[in-house]
Amino acid sequence: MVEEGTARTIRTWIESSKRVAVLTHTNPDGDAIGSSLALALALRKMGKDSQVVIPDGLPDFLRWLPGIELATTFAYKREKATEIIEGADLIFCLDFNDPKRLNGVAEFLQKSRAKKVLIDHHQEPMEFTDIAISETERGSVGEMIYLFLKNVLQSELLDKEIATCLYVAIMTDTGNFNYASSYPEIFHIVGDLLNYDIEKDRIYSNVYDAFSEDRMRLQGYCMLEKMVVFPEYHTAYISLTDEELNRFNHRKGDTEGFVNIPFSVKGVKFTALFVEKKDRIKVSFRSRGNFPVNLVASEHYHGGGHINAAGGDSFLSMKETLAGFESLLPGYAKRLKDE
Ligand code: 5GP
Ligand code: MN
Repeated sequence: MVEEGTARTIRTWIESSKRVAVLTHTNPDGDAIGSSLALALALRKMGKDSQVVIPDGLPDFLRWLPGIELATTFAYKREKATEIIEGADLIFCLDFNDPKRLNGVAEFLQKSRAKKVLIDHHQEPMEFTDIAISETERGSVGEMIYLFLKNVLQSELLDKEIATCLYVAIMTDTGNFNYASSYPEIFHIVGDLLNYDIEKDRIYSNVYDAFSEDRMRLQGYCMLEKMVVFPEYHTAYISLTDEELNRFNHRKGDTEGFVNIPFSVKGVKFTALFVEKKDRIKVSFRSRGNFPVNLVASEHYHGGGHINAAGGDSFLSMKETLAGFESLLPGYAKRLKDE
């Protein structure tokens, strides 16, 4: 719930601004892009020149979204992206809790004298905006934007295009309502989105039936050759080296979702994915139940996140990284057993 005083302030800021920038995090997912486009489209309907800036690559499975032409990628169109931020009177930050998640865009956010509003659902947001709307119990920022449009902006801005973006945000951040969605309100929100004639089944297919053949074969390889399961620790992981990624003509985003694969093995409650990058190993964690993977990430991998989804980095070799991870498991055994 946004307090009425805060809501009024935000309305005043929007009314008095001409240009609005919406920023979201590096390696953007469906929630980042869907909620940012939805907000930008709504602000356009209010007569604001609104644009979205993302630090880097837009995944192919989101390129069909309504309003995608409003998004500028800093890594490819640096000049235009910085101009959008520098020219904005008001900046919304969506779906991240730390300006570090903006990579190179962070310095332009910091330099900007625009009013800044955070709308986010990650734990422990840092203070880097004038106003922060932080609701860590929500499954997605998409939901928060839905409520923002209804309750804060208080006008009938929703339409088929905006509802489609919001549905993508909610659907992807809950794994198609597989997790982070066990509360009635999310279904009331989704129910209302269906009132705007969104094509639910087509949206699912656009997002989830959009893999390349190489990506599917890489997934098969992970399942057959690379998944390591520790039944006694209710844990499983997958690791991929640069050489393996190249063998499958890897493209950015191809490993998205791989961290969830081992949950299909009965009894697995804690999963990890290790992907070799140029200068580090990107680590992703997921859990089911109360096992806090954000603590694993912050205590051992310079990272953080939510209780059931977190990530970080390792600066050791792949071999050492995996050995290090395996050595942590006995320490978690009791908690994983009890969950
Ligand atoms: P993913 O595994 O999809 O990359 O990230 C899942 C979640 O973990 C993200 O939404 C984010 O909250 C968190 N996360 C991932 N990588 C990092 C990281 O390097 N640092 C921090 N603080 N959080 C991360
Ligand atoms: Mn999110």
